[in-house]
Amino acid sequence: MMRTIMHVDMDAFFASVELKRRPELNGQPVIVGGRGDPTRRGVVSTATYEARVFGIHSGMALRTAARLCPDAVFLPVDFPAYRAASDRVFEHLAAVTERLQPVGLDEAYLDISDRQEDALDIGRRLKADILASTDLVASVGIGPNRLLAKIASDLEKPDGLTWLRTSDVPGRVWPLPVRTLHGVGPRTGERLAALGVETVGDLAALPADQLRGEFSERHARSLQRAAHGEDDRPVQTERVRKSIGRERTFQQDCRSSGRLAYEARQMLDSVHARLTERGLAARTVTVKLRYRDFTTHTRSRSLSVPTDRLSPLADAVRECLFAHRLHRAVRLLGVQLSGLTPAAAAGA
Ligand SMILES: [Mg+2]
Repeated sequence: MMRTIMHVDMDAFFASVELKRRPELNGQPVIVGGRGDPTRRGVVSTATYEARVFGIHSGMALRTAARLCPDAVFLPVDFPAYRAASDRVFEHLAAVTERLQPVGLDEAYLDISDRQEDALDIGRRLKADILASTDLVASVGIGPNRLLAKIASDLEKPDGLTWLRTSDVPGRVWPLPVRTLHGVGPRTGERLAALGVETVGDLAALPADQLRGEFSERHARSLQRAAHGEDDRPVQTERVRKSIGRERTFQQDCRSSGRLAYEARQMLDSVHARLTERGLAARTVTVKLRYRDFTTHTRSRSLSVPTDRLSPLADAVRECLFAHRLHRAVRLLGVQLSGLTPAAAAGA
């Protein structure tokens, strides 16, 4: 099925929020990071475009930034203010679609495949709505998948609105540095450079067996696909949970193995309810005990197949619990299920 994915990315978000309340700084190089004091430790969180032309980028030490751009205005990070602005931006995103995957405070993917309206019109209106209510500027990228949507939102930043189709890949994506691709970090970038790959186009042109000689079969294939603008990662509307669990700190340290077994079962019951509510099965059970001296021990049992049935999970909890030394004073008990998979796929 043809998909239409939109990537919305606020432009220089933290710095832009700061400029709204300090309009006198407009047009100046402004750097937000740490406590806003370049003589102290801390890194750049974001910088205005006026500062970026000096080579300032996020993650750079404030000290280095001050050396590159001595006239920059440094401001401390103010998360509550950015979160408030972010909440207003996300109200507009949620009005477009529920199929929304946030990435931090200032970025999100939207799956708008089911919308009849022209994607550029949706993007244009979204940008206008965000600007009207927050006075902040967003860049919007549209593509057949997350990979191209994200590259698109970056292509004409700031204030961009860009649609990248698969047919645009040779003309617009191949000239870009290979590091532009999702999944090409510094290490992979170095190994590709050793093969003479500098641009996405170089990667696309590299013979498959040369790539397989350097990377695992799976990695080589995903690199090759990315170089051709292919990506089938879904927009994940809910964060995929790796585990679910509960913990309880006792009012008074617990020395009774019977009481611990009872409490562990109660906790499993409630964790199991959450498991089945989400339609999941679990493969691994973990029981955690923290003793009076704050040492913490965990014991785990993995079943041969994931299950959403209570009784094998309860057996595993008991086994884990009695693998612990229970004669010591226990101040905290935790029960966790992990190795989660959709129950339908688990066949249990
Ligand atoms: Mg951004």
